[in-house]
Amino acid sequence: MKFLTIKKRTLCVLLVGVILICSVVGVCHAVRAVSSPKIVRTIVIDAGHGGVDGGCVGKNTGITESELNLIYAKKLQELCSQAGLRVVMTRADMNGLYSPFATNKKKSEMKKREQIINESDADLLISIHMNSLPIKSVKGAQVFFRGDNLASKEFADSITNSLKNNLEYIRGDSKIGDYYILNCNDKAGILIECGFLSSPEEEILLSQSDYIQKFCNAVMVGIFSFLDM
Ligand SMILES: [Zn+2]
Repeated sequence: MKFLTIKKRTLCVLLVGVILICSVVGVCHAVRAVSSPKIVRTIVIDAGHGGVDGGCVGKNTGITESELNLIYAKKLQELCSQAGLRVVMTRADMNGLYSPFATNKKKSEMKKREQIINESDADLLISIHMNSLPIKSVKGAQVFFRGDNLASKEFADSITNSLKNNLEYIRGDSKIGDYYILNCNDKAGILIECGFLSSPEEEILLSQSDYIQKFCNAVMVGIFSFLDM
């Protein structure tokens, strides 16, 4: 009986010990969860062209690609900031990124974009452009990714899926794009051709504030999906 009593007491002590250890571990875990810093993701938003390089031009409205790219980039900047992302813009006005002394302005501005992207410590990169073709009937947005970068492809697919679900005109699936802006860094980078300024119908659509909001909202859904936010 005495042996049994001692054994029972030992078991009780052990049980209390286990409960205490579990509680302490639980509290520590909870404290760590509360005190651990929130991960802030950084995105580079790159408005293509600028300065003397206006890109393609809408024949009906006279709007330049560089102007529209900046409008879309700024809308995305606003939405990304509201969502808690840190945003780095390659350009925030209509000026070109090239050095005023550069003999080759295109090379100079691309080197500047490369420098901004690589100094940004970003997770994501979106480069914004408008498309153009001699054929007026071609319409639709298309997303390009870097062929040897899986994260770039997954990000492009995520954005494409959302654009397909939310917009009228999409020009097929995500596609490999051999672009300097994607090749000059290892970010999960994509280039979005938002639509065709050479299509009279899409030119009007791309310039409308409701459509810009709708387009950028769809891009945000793709970002959230890719980041699992
Ligand atoms: Zn362009």
